[in-house]
Amino acid sequence: MDNELGYIDENLKVIRYNIGEALSRSGRTEDSLRLMAVTKTVPPEAVNHAVELGVSLLGENRVQEFQSKQEAYDSSAEVHFIGHLQTNKVKYIIRPMTMIQSVDSLKLGNEINRLAKAENKIMDILCEVNIGGEESKSGTAPGKLRELLEQLSQLDNIRIRGLMTIPPPSDSDLFLGRMEELYNTISTQVMPLDILSMGMTHDYAAAILHGSNIVRIGTGLFGARDYSKK
Ligand SMILES: *Cc1c(COP(=O)(O)O)cnc(C)c1O
Repeated sequence: MDNELGYIDENLKVIRYNIGEALSRSGRTEDSLRLMAVTKTVPPEAVNHAVELGVSLLGENRVQEFQSKQEAYDSSAEVHFIGHLQTNKVKYIIRPMTMIQSVDSLKLGNEINRLAKAENKIMDILCEVNIGGEESKSGTAPGKLRELLEQLSQLDNIRIRGLMTIPPPSDSDLFLGRMEELYNTISTQVMPLDILSMGMTHDYAAAILHGSNIVRIGTGLFGARDYSKK
């Protein structure tokens, strides 16, 4: 079994090397970045292997898939939600997760707040920004972000920690730069933020250079996703 999962060790070595390079190029220390393992379609044994190797943060896209794997996960890892979230599914993730990175509407924020209150919990959230203005993607428009943050900040049982984005892959460097600017503007003019979640397999090094402090990696760690086995 361990041998079979050896590719994860190899992939992680490469990722850690690249992360180290990008951090040192930006004059940052290792503890200024968290590596998230994105688990969609990945069997729990492979996820747990990454946890054993020291990856302490998991990213979940789908509530149902998470529910089917949750019990098998190594419980030492922290879990964040990163996918499109319907309000009627919030109840399944409030307890087991420590952050919801994909908040893009007041309606969703209200529901998270309501259920967090019922759990006597303060839920950390990030606002997802559709930085490329792509129709196919969720996330709030950059021009509407400030208003959304102000509304969400009124809610007692959520704590706004920062921003998350998936830039258009074809122009990722440009949009990573725009996201960095937006994050800095909000932090200085609207409210203090401490998390900028951006960078996936194809652009994590560039994202780190643009100030990301959570990179979310799936295929680079676990290999190509096999949707047929899900
Ligand atoms: C799938 C996914 C990732 C990881 O993408 P890879 O290209 O496989 O690294 C990161 N963030 C979100 C929100 C995702 O859905």
